[in-house]
Amino acid sequence: MTPTVAAIVILGQGSLATARRIQQRYPGALIHGLAGRVEGCDRQYTEFGATLRQLYQQDSPIIALCAAGIVIRTLAPLLLEKGVEPPVLAVAEDGSAVVPLLGGLGGVNVMAREIATALQVAPAITTSGELRFGTCLLNPPSGYSLGDLEQGKRFVSDLLAGEPVRIEGAAPWLDQAQLPQDAQARLAIRIDSAAGAPAADELRIYPRNVVIAVGAGTADVSTVIAQALAQADLAEQSLACLLAADSDMARPELQQAASALGVPLRFAEPVGDVAQWLEDALGQSVSIQAVGSIAIAVAAEPLDPQRIGRARGRLAVIGLGPGAAELMVPAVRAELDRATDVLGYETYVRMAGPFRADQVQHCTDNREEMQRARHAFELAAQGRSVVVVSSGDPGVFAMAAAVLEALHESSDPAWHQVDLEILPGVSASLATAAQAGAPLGHDFCVMSLSDNLKPWSIIEKRLDLAAQADLALAFYNPISRARPWQLGRALEIVAQHRTPDTPVVLGRDIGRPGQTLRVTTLGQLTPDQVDMRTLVIVGSSTTCVFPRAEGGHWVYTPRWYGDKPL
Ligand code: SAH
Repeated sequence: MTPTVAAIVILGQGSLATARRIQQRYPGALIHGLAGRVEGCDRQYTEFGATLRQLYQQDSPIIALCAAGIVIRTLAPLLLEKGVEPPVLAVAEDGSAVVPLLGGLGGVNVMAREIATALQVAPAITTSGELRFGTCLLNPPSGYSLGDLEQGKRFVSDLLAGEPVRIEGAAPWLDQAQLPQDAQARLAIRIDSAAGAPAADELRIYPRNVVIAVGAGTADVSTVIAQALAQADLAEQSLACLLAADSDMARPELQQAASALGVPLRFAEPVGDVAQWLEDALGQSVSIQAVGSIAIAVAAEPLDPQRIGRARGRLAVIGLGPGAAELMVPAVRAELDRATDVLGYETYVRMAGPFRADQVQHCTDNREEMQRARHAFELAAQGRSVVVVSSGDPGVFAMAAAVLEALHESSDPAWHQVDLEILPGVSASLATAAQAGAPLGHDFCVMSLSDNLKPWSIIEKRLDLAAQADLALAFYNPISRARPWQLGRALEIVAQHRTPDTPVVLGRDIGRPGQTLRVTTLGQLTPDQVDMRTLVIVGSSTTCVFPRAEGGHWVYTPRWYGDKPL
């Protein structure tokens, strides 16, 4: 499951000190500052509203250092759609007030108390149940789950109306609560793992103290689990996790069963029979029942899934886009936040950061691609969540192919079990084309001019044929100190098939500080105008250029070819 990283959002430099005090309480949280106004924060944003809404939609807890009204107005359009919401708090810039706004069931009041303690002020708690009883009954601590929310709300309003309550079962966190307890009360808070619907007068809270081990190759996993729970008279809500065999790691059926139950999947190498295996994985002796290839353990206390077996490792090969944060796809941002290890060429790892102290950065030289790919699999096969970083798109002259090649060459089953995903990014040719207009608006060809990994003769052949076919051309790796003459030769070949007035676009450091965009012609282009941070686009015979109002030019290649359609 993705750990949720809290976002501390600030608008001005004056709030940074308060933000840092809050960050000391939540070391994983990142400070997001308005670009141009705040320096020394962890992330920069350009638009407050869009940023806040995006964080909210990603379920990130939000601590906004600004007026409560601003936060409310910004999130208002999203409020009606959302069932479960993350905690959202407004904190006064000088730290003098902490106002929980949204996310009562996500623990916003708990956060408000924690932040208020850190800032040495009183939190502005307004939830009546919480004020009266000192705890939110509908938000039990981790390790416990609430039965039915709607029934729970009615239950709390009965309590607020003055009714007494009994507690049945162990609820250590309620010891400090100021509940009107009475052994004869009609209302009961019941804490146990038994199956069955709650009675009308009950608030049911389930300890997550049940683990089911699913033997290797078990068919019909979901049905078998449901039957086993029913036979043992245990509630599904009490499941802490599923334990499966290492050899079943990649089985989609298991993933589906776990996500339908809303529990993590953990893995261990089976030893002995299924009951023995489960006991070993739990590392404690608990009551275990075996039913066919399934075993169920019920512990006295909630169980922490993190301490049972290990997770399926994950390897994501991601594209950062050209550089600007707005051009990074949200799935990539989320992947970077969940990573335990980040691998890549140092420049790109730095571009992807900053990272939390618990995230390990493995920076390597740009040329060690296969070695980096193998290292990524070694880490992921240990159950870690690994990210391999590329600029632009990872599938365009970057790490995705190297990672797949390493996997293809490997016969290690642990590598093949890794949860591998490639997440796309905006490639340099697309980012450059967009800034110039639409030079790639018709058929085009993408080539790397580097002859490090392919013979120069094949580059010449492809250039010749692509230019002859009248494709627009996008050149990556156009030139470098080690490859000084190749671009000149490439342009000579293209010039055999294109007129000197063919439009050319040069995008340098697009989406990065100091970016430049130049529109010129094939006749005027010389290799000294290009370096290794440049993307070159050569138009086709139909590519057009016209002046734009702001100065400079628009470049586009029309959708049609031949005679202009009417
Ligand atoms: N995977 C990357 C390409 C890596 S190859 C992508 O999809 O964009 C490296 C080449 O990409 C560089 O030599 C340069 O030609 C081009 N490039 C990468 N980032 C760029 C940027 N921000 N601006 C212009 N060109 C860029």
